[in-house]
Amino acid sequence: MAQHMDTDVVARLADVRADIAAIAEEAGRDPREITLVAVGKGHDAARIRPALAAGQRVFGENRVQEAAEKWPALRAAYPDLALHLIGPLQTNKVRQAVGLFDVIETVDRPKLAGALAREFARSERRPDCFIQVNTGAEPQKAGVLPEAADAFIAQCRDEFGLPVAGLMCIPPVDEEASLHFALLREIARRNGLAGLSMGMSADYRIAIAFGATHLRIGTAIFGERPPRPAV
Ligand SMILES: *Cc1c(COP(=O)(O)O)cnc(C)c1O
Repeated sequence: MAQHMDTDVVARLADVRADIAAIAEEAGRDPREITLVAVGKGHDAARIRPALAAGQRVFGENRVQEAAEKWPALRAAYPDLALHLIGPLQTNKVRQAVGLFDVIETVDRPKLAGALAREFARSERRPDCFIQVNTGAEPQKAGVLPEAADAFIAQCRDEFGLPVAGLMCIPPVDEEASLHFALLREIARRNGLAGLSMGMSADYRIAIAFGATHLRIGTAIFGERPPRPAV
């Protein structure tokens, strides 16, 4: 059974990679400018290892605690892997997150930006930062509002000196993703940012056409996530 599931992950990963390459070429883009961030949240290390063994090196997790439990052992085995934080970050977890992650995709408020700047100064580490934009202005969702994005990006760069590499968004589930990808691309363009983290299992094909540089894909690689135990 475990053996079967390993083959399953490796085959799905190969399919997704081939699909990304094909769609990129169709869109006139170089597939090498697109990074596949394999989202391992909800899956244990045993399910992630086959992807590592198959050469995947960039992964995403949305919870600091879960990453702290899973990734130190995997990193010891694969020191060249890169881990992205793609979920909300509380300021009291900044120190732990900076120690664990190579890229923080969810910078979305001055208090967090300031805490990251202080931790970068204190520690030896300086993960790349993406600014999360709440393109759908959804009240329950994290991210800076689109109309406040330019000022916040400038503040992160100039006041806090963060290494801002790009923007990230999660479109509302019930809306046309392309509108949100286009908006994110436009905010990145006018701020001179190269990185665009957008596109998940359901909409990564559209995201490629709209210029995504980072695709965050979980289900299409690892399958459905097991239900989380109630706390
Ligand atoms: C879970 C998650 C993903 C991956 O979603 P899938 O639909 O499983 O591909 C991408 N981005 C974020 C922020 C997530 O939390």
